[in-house]
Amino acid sequence: MKPIYLDNNATTRVAPEVVEEMLPYFSTYYGNPSSMYTFGGNVAKKIKEARAKTADLLGAQPEEIIFTSCGTESDSTAIWAALRANPGKRHVITSNVEHPAVKNLGEYLARNGYRVTFVPVDRQGRLDLDHLYAHLSDDTAVVSLMWANNETGVLFPVEAVAERVHKRGAVFHTDAVQAVGKVPIQMAENKIDMLALSGHKLHAPKGVGALYVRRGTKFAPFLLGGHQENGRRGGTENVAGIIGLGKAAELAAAKMEEENTRVKAMRDKLEQTLLERIPNAMVNGDPADRLPNTSSIAFEFVEGESILLMMDEFGICASSGSACTSGSLEPSHVLRAMDVPFTAAHGSIRFSLSIYNTEAEIDLVIEKLPPIIERLRKMSPFWSEAAGACRTAV
Ligand SMILES: *Cc1c(COP(=O)(O)O)cnc(C)c1O
Repeated sequence: MKPIYLDNNATTRVAPEVVEEMLPYFSTYYGNPSSMYTFGGNVAKKIKEARAKTADLLGAQPEEIIFTSCGTESDSTAIWAALRANPGKRHVITSNVEHPAVKNLGEYLARNGYRVTFVPVDRQGRLDLDHLYAHLSDDTAVVSLMWANNETGVLFPVEAVAERVHKRGAVFHTDAVQAVGKVPIQMAENKIDMLALSGHKLHAPKGVGALYVRRGTKFAPFLLGGHQENGRRGGTENVAGIIGLGKAAELAAAKMEEENTRVKAMRDKLEQTLLERIPNAMVNGDPADRLPNTSSIAFEFVEGESILLMMDEFGICASSGSACTSGSLEPSHVLRAMDVPFTAAHGSIRFSLSIYNTEAEIDLVIEKLPPIIERLRKMSPFWSEAAGACRTAV
């Protein structure tokens, strides 16, 4: 059975055009791009091309792109580079809803001699800007905020924040892993110093990412080694991966319009119809300022895991808003930071679409999900209690 894949914020299908572009670089053109002979030089040329395409997607210059192994490496590299460039400053600002790639580094820094401010969000997942600006100081080395949230799709006003942070003399980094390819980005027109992206979130393979570093930004490599990436990241290049990322960046630029029209329309149809047909359901996160492909919906009084299991019988793939930590189901830190009530956070499902989804797939989910929720609620003690409470109230 072909899956109905609605989990594109977790990872994406590698575009067929990307696979095709990569294949010869495993077999025919396996040379090391650092070699002196033509067989290697041709590979280097192809990497140069991929760098230009990746830069184009961001409205950046090719020299501003460093290829890495993943989004996580890009985030870590950026934050450590900012700290090393400003050894006298001991303060870091980030948010309460970051991906673990930034969150766990922030928590590590807090345990290891840095002051770290985790800026809260409101019930809609919007950043508390007053809190952020009140904590921004001359001691702040770096501010790291995600451009788009992977669970809710909520967008942070990173360009506006970057201006203020810059004026205060701190470095601004954004984890744009979910934003790249879905929202227009023009680095030439903003003040963001560093930006992380990941191949496998935009139809390139897993194991390749990139870090944008604005020209003139003080930088220290995370991986010391060979002279690759202009001395900014040691290690023989993931040639095929980088070439795949370049192709995926080119495709993303060409498909961004479709992402924001057809994909968004399917997302809206899915969301609106489910909300109409299923009582006690609501969207998590600011519906106005959101990625076009993401919908996080809370179905009250049911377990997200049970919903996922029952959808799996129809081949429907999505994610729940809970994380299984040490055997107990904890609502995700993102939904907790938004103060989503426990009964709703537990039944939250994230649908994330891509250009490879079809209207027929969306229709199938719209058909299958309402009876699943109804069945689960009939078995849920919380639901009968809540329903009972409603009856007595009436
Ligand atoms: C997936 C993701 C990452 C991590 O990227 P990897 O390439 O898997 O390391 C970081 N930030 C966000 C917002 C993500 O969605």
